[in-house]
Amino acid sequence: MKDKLIEWIRQKLIKIVLPFRKRRMVLLSKFHFSMGFRISFHYLLLMITAGLIVFLPVLWLVYHTDLADQELVFRFNEAVMSIYVRNALWGSCVVYLIICFLVIKSGERGVVRLFEPLRSMSAAADNLTVNNLNSDRLSVEGTKNELKDLAGTINKMLDRIEISYESQKQFVSDASHELRTPIAVIQGYANLLDRWGKEDTEVMEEAIEAIKNESKSMQELVEKLLFLSRHDKKTLKLKKELFNMKEIVEDLAREMHLVIEKRIITIAMLQDVTVYGDKQALKQAVRVFLDNAVKYTEAGDSIRISCQNDNGDCIVTIEDTGIGMTKKDLEHIFERFYRSEHVRNANINGHGLGLSIARLIILSHTGRIKIRSQYTRGSSFIITIPKRLGL
Ligand code: ADP
Repeated sequence: MKDKLIEWIRQKLIKIVLPFRKRRMVLLSKFHFSMGFRISFHYLLLMITAGLIVFLPVLWLVYHTDLADQELVFRFNEAVMSIYVRNALWGSCVVYLIICFLVIKSGERGVVRLFEPLRSMSAAADNLTVNNLNSDRLSVEGTKNELKDLAGTINKMLDRIEISYESQKQFVSDASHELRTPIAVIQGYANLLDRWGKEDTEVMEEAIEAIKNESKSMQELVEKLLFLSRHDKKTLKLKKELFNMKEIVEDLAREMHLVIEKRIITIAMLQDVTVYGDKQALKQAVRVFLDNAVKYTEAGDSIRISCQNDNGDCIVTIEDTGIGMTKKDLEHIFERFYRSEHVRNANINGHGLGLSIARLIILSHTGRIKIRSQYTRGSSFIITIPKRLGL
């Protein structure tokens, strides 16, 4: 019964109050009141309420007090008050209103100053385009408050957007640069073929061979770029399953034995180890390390491969006695398009994308890569894929 009554009252209130509220909102939406004005206005209402609470009892007392014994009397609605008291009352009302006005004015100015960061934020957001992402940030000088904190957060967000935008730009520029060389080589050989190749078979064979190599390199580069772009767009799909990593390492080592000559390739250890992951992707990652071991060694150098089961964790190690890396290289080798200076100078083929891709694959299997390297002495890459929980 009680609940029904409450519900009935609630429904009635909704019927009466909601349309009124809606109309009020529609009406208010036609006006633009600054935050400063609204805050000051709110305080003014509070002051008026406080004033009424203070003045009304005083007025009531004055009207109902018999002041006939005073010299000058003034009758008003049966109540008696002295002209002195009446004037004092009016006077204090006027003073009170003036104080209210001054409060609202100075309050508004103070609030405007307080909201200054908001105005500069809105101006900065208005001016923001991709061309001026690195321009000035919002001011966070002076004493701290919530708006300054917000300005600081927006500045950090702009920094992150700028870094990401710059790295995208750098990526596009590096990719174009990498593609420019093989395109120029292909164009050069096509011209050579056009001019001399028809008569000279030697020139023709050389040109065809070069065009084949360059187009293969371009295809590899485009595939790598596509992989990275799919990863960045989060459209890269991994098909995870349980498989024995030993088989993959064994396959790749066998392939290497068949194709690569003049390197001493040894399989140090091959243990069965079950891994939960994308077989093809992990094969691609291990291939990057093996290809590098071949690329960055010379005839007579050794390459040692092992696949180890460490309490269920899979550890694949690829060691070489090749050119190795400097300390500076080690800090950058996972960056896209990074290639060490001595590798560039030695004209060893590559685009500087293999390790970035391998790293992404290993990380997406919650794995890690440890590197040990000494310049001119060789390098070792230790890849760990942790055991899947529940195996
Ligand atoms: P790429 O081999 O195509 O240049 P990577 O991303 O695979 O690209 O390697 C990046 C750089 O790391 C290489 O250019 C090379 O300087 C260095 N690097 C990678 N593996 C080795 C290695 N086994 N020995 C020496 N340097 C290496």
